[in-house]
Amino acid sequence: MRLDARVTLVTGGGSGIGRAIALRFAEEGARVVVNDIRRETAEATVKEIGGQARAIAADVADSAQVRAMFEEIERALGGLDVLVNNAGIGEVDPRGREAFHAKAQARIGEMMAGTIQTHWDVTQAMTDATWARMLAVHLNGTFYCTREALKLMSRVNRGAIVNISSVAGLMGIEVAPHYGAAKAGILGFTRSVAREVATRGIRVNAICPGWIDTPILDPLPPMVRMLAERQTPLGRLGDPREIANAALFLASDEASFVTGQWLSPNGGLLTI
Ligand code: NAP
Repeated sequence: MRLDARVTLVTGGGSGIGRAIALRFAEEGARVVVNDIRRETAEATVKEIGGQARAIAADVADSAQVRAMFEEIERALGGLDVLVNNAGIGEVDPRGREAFHAKAQARIGEMMAGTIQTHWDVTQAMTDATWARMLAVHLNGTFYCTREALKLMSRVNRGAIVNISSVAGLMGIEVAPHYGAAKAGILGFTRSVAREVATRGIRVNAICPGWIDTPILDPLPPMVRMLAERQTPLGRLGDPREIANAALFLASDEASFVTGQWLSPNGGLLTI
């Protein structure tokens, strides 16, 4: 019971990594609030947990909705001990799935033949709206939730925040520059806020997962998915529960001297 009775908010908890974190934290005794943009998926996770869990639908990219969510948490649960900023989107190419698949297929053939002639050209085709939405969900969402969480945590000078970044924030990702920028931004924010709130006894850390088997990978053509497995030295995609275990460590007292850090469960994909 490493999180016994600790009130925890997991954003994007209706699917994939967020769902696994919500379930794992509940096993360790946390009183979990599951957020998602779609009420039905948040409620499905709550149903799986049973007991004291609670679902709140909100778009983390909307500061008014985030404020209302935290007001509900304060009213119903009196405060917040742990925040996991996990909600995210992973669109790979603003020109659509088919264009992405065609380019990926062509590049794989060209790679085998020796010279890649099909260029990704993602940045030059990106619209303002696509760029802005990616940053809004990942970076603004992390900021809006952190801002509200710190107001509650500062009352008791205690708390832990875990931000889900990505290996893309460390090494870049050629098919999604907006995603890479948002995830790198989350790491800079994590380090700065960790230093800012350390005197309050609040710890802030990040996780940089490698390829994890969740619905966010659905847009990938089977061949690219296979390449992702082959590029990963452990030879497989990660399981969302393997990220949940890392999040549990960072949220728990076992990580009491860890702040401003990132942990990267990535199967060896990135070794630094
Ligand atoms: P997922 O299965 O698609 O889960 C993401 C959840 O967040 C979905 O339920 C999604 O709802 C929800 N969401 C999206 N926008 C939201 C918003 N504005 N407000 C609230 N909820 C929102 O994907 P996942 O792989 O578990 O991703 C979780 C986090 O891990 C993301 O931050 C992602 O970038 C990060 N990550 C994933 C991988 C990987 O390989 N899977 C690797 C590195 C990092 P909808 O389904 O309706 O969009």
